[in-house]
Amino acid sequence: MTQLQPGGTVGVVGVGTMGSGIAQTATLAGHPVVMVDAVPGRADDAVRAVRGQLDRLAARGRLEEPVALAAGSRLTAADDLTALAGASLVIEAAAESLEVKNSLFATLESIVSQDCVLATNTSSLSVSAIAAPLRRPGRLVGMHFFNPAQVMRLVEVISGLDTDPRVAEWVAGTARAWGKVPIQVASTPGFVVNRVARPFYGEALRALEERAGDPATLDAVMRESGGFRMGPLELTDLIGQDVNQAANRSVWEAFGHDPRYAPSLAQRQLVDAGRLGRKSGRGFYVHDGSPPPSPATAAASPAPAEVIVEGDWGPWEPLWERLAGTGIAVRRATDSPAGSATAGPAATAPSPAGAVARMDQVLLVPTSGRTATQEAVERGRPTVVLDLARDPATTARWAVAASDGCPPAALAEAIGMLQACGAEVTVLDDVPGLLVARTAAMLVNEAADVAGRGVADAAAVDAAMELGANHPQGPLTWGDAIGARRLVELLDTVGAHHGDGRYRACSTLRRAALTGRPLRTL
Ligand code: NAD
Repeated sequence: MTQLQPGGTVGVVGVGTMGSGIAQTATLAGHPVVMVDAVPGRADDAVRAVRGQLDRLAARGRLEEPVALAAGSRLTAADDLTALAGASLVIEAAAESLEVKNSLFATLESIVSQDCVLATNTSSLSVSAIAAPLRRPGRLVGMHFFNPAQVMRLVEVISGLDTDPRVAEWVAGTARAWGKVPIQVASTPGFVVNRVARPFYGEALRALEERAGDPATLDAVMRESGGFRMGPLELTDLIGQDVNQAANRSVWEAFGHDPRYAPSLAQRQLVDAGRLGRKSGRGFYVHDGSPPPSPATAAASPAPAEVIVEGDWGPWEPLWERLAGTGIAVRRATDSPAGSATAGPAATAPSPAGAVARMDQVLLVPTSGRTATQEAVERGRPTVVLDLARDPATTARWAVAASDGCPPAALAEAIGMLQACGAEVTVLDDVPGLLVARTAAMLVNEAADVAGRGVADAAAVDAAMELGANHPQGPLTWGDAIGARRLVELLDTVGAHHGDGRYRACSTLRRAALTGRPLRTL
């Protein structure tokens, strides 16, 4: 038996936001569903609410009316766990407390049959700890749905130390039959999505504290250059600063206060001030219906007549193809060693990847983690550092930083060149690794660590981040496009700048950088 049999009864315990969505999913898959809640009458209300939801789907033509009616009729409500005696699968979505979950499963174990599978929708507790007091801990597994559960396709199937692999397979098969995409995960803090997503918020929060830019600017860069559907700071306003902070802190604490996950002071100040985001009317943004503030965008600048491009531009390479036909002469200086072409002796110091673009008054280099000021001092010329864009061939915005003391006309030359390919340009303050590149490096690093430590395999990690966090691309696929060697170099350089251990590359990423093994094969 590889999955819950058709007609098998599903119990859902705790019928709030998640329990209701799970019940809707299970009944639409054809199962009788018994909904139970500790608050008397709440299960009745939830059954009515799910039926109402099914009716609305039918009214909008998203479901056949008889299908919605039949699904609604398979739902029953109970105020007592004994109603679950005939269930083949019980999914718990009650309060996020180990005591509550331990006590619930202890009671359930004395009610359900020997072969009933027990699943918990916990988002942060250890599945091993939830299972530990059970007489048969092997039958308990994490079944982590994402909100809204009836819509989001990802289900993390989480095995604790004692979970029977056949139970995890059975639950994954069941989730697949329900139209979900299950991934197998070993129970570790944050599982996959809630762990790998941390740097998405963490790096933007840190860049804000470093005054790289204001929230609207950082969000615009992450959307329009990084390719994310929402910027990290606006997303924390939507999630709730308190809720996002709790998730950040829970992973940080579970990993023994590892600086990789260190919580943000800027976020704590918001929470302390009651600026929780949309739900309180104010967070990083004011939510009163007024239009959001505009991102910092550079004014139009004239394009240079000629750019001399040297060295290996790696993932930035399509930028040069994009400039063809804009009237700017792009000359490749492939034969000359980096730095030897034009300027004085200091200009012979190559960037680590040897990539530089020379214009009349300014040098442009892709970020390797060094600040523009460091580059300029070593090269003896005003320098602008270019952030990574997810897709340089189409990006709508480039982020740059200029070296301290860079003359405005020199910066304008670099801006004009980037604008010539039809993109907006944002000038950030000169922080190491800028924003998109260092966020990418930290996301890939976390994903590689998760895969390298066997928490989940590479394909599962990528699928999890696309389906569970709405990222436009799995981090390991993105990492292969950027190159592990380049990412390690960036982490080492940014890490040396800060010196707090936050940016240390994991062993798996370092090994991939040495051997060239694709991260997607981890
Ligand atoms: P919720 O507050 O909306 O609903 C919880 C429900 O459980 C309430 O109706 C409450 O009365 C009931 N309950 C509490 N203790 C109970 C008990 N001992 N027995 C029976 N019912 C009990 O919460 P939620 O957001 O649906 O979260 C439920 C679980 O799912 C938590 O473990 C949470 O961490 C997890 N989760 C939440 C999300 C999310 O985005 N909300 C996502 C994934 C997982």
